[in-house]
Amino acid sequence: MLCLDVTERIIDEAVEKGCNLVVSHHPLLFRGLKTIADLNDVQRTVRRAIKNDVCVVSMHTNMDNARGGVNYKMAEKLGLQGVEFLAGKVVDGVACGSGVVGELSEPLVSCDFVLKVKKAFDVECALCNELLRRPIRRVAICGGAGDFLLDDAIAAGADAFITGEMHYHQYFGQEQRIQICVIGHYQSEQYTTEIFRDIIEERCSDVNCCIAETCTNPILYL
Ligand SMILES: [Zn+2]
Repeated sequence: MLCLDVTERIIDEAVEKGCNLVVSHHPLLFRGLKTIADLNDVQRTVRRAIKNDVCVVSMHTNMDNARGGVNYKMAEKLGLQGVEFLAGKVVDGVACGSGVVGELSEPLVSCDFVLKVKKAFDVECALCNELLRRPIRRVAICGGAGDFLLDDAIAAGADAFITGEMHYHQYFGQEQRIQICVIGHYQSEQYTTEIFRDIIEERCSDVNCCIAETCTNPILYL
């Protein structure tokens, strides 16, 4: 079963569906556990997985930085063309990097652009700075907490920057430079499971996989 986050409810769903492997984007264990009791949600989730013989494998930054990874998937959802890494590098001979930048097939006025983003990522409310008064064509993207790439997005000539989270103070001073559009961490990375599904279906055709139905976003918009 494929998911973004591993929670107790996710393990329950895996058991209900007869899945013995959960592939998640975010790790269940960000740091080592010294106790596996029921003192917090992580410990309880580990216990539940072990008790039910469910394995957990997490991809995280491997998938964030890969060609065809999280940001490429986001660009695909927006229909961007000519997509390339925003802050590219080569590791062990393999091109990878943080964020991507690409072009919309046709320029959009900023309010139409924001509506398109909200629709593509099923977002109730996007956090934006002042609406840009020039058309938006070139778009930089970084799923999750991508505010560290704002300057790279401007340097790459992007008209807009989409990310999942951004600090308050970073919104200042960017008016009419770049259209900031912050859509939520979960929303920005939710389609990562489709990448896992496509890889498994292509490379491991005898493995049955499904995308979890449980929404693990802990944030409610009220
Ligand atoms: Zn993330």
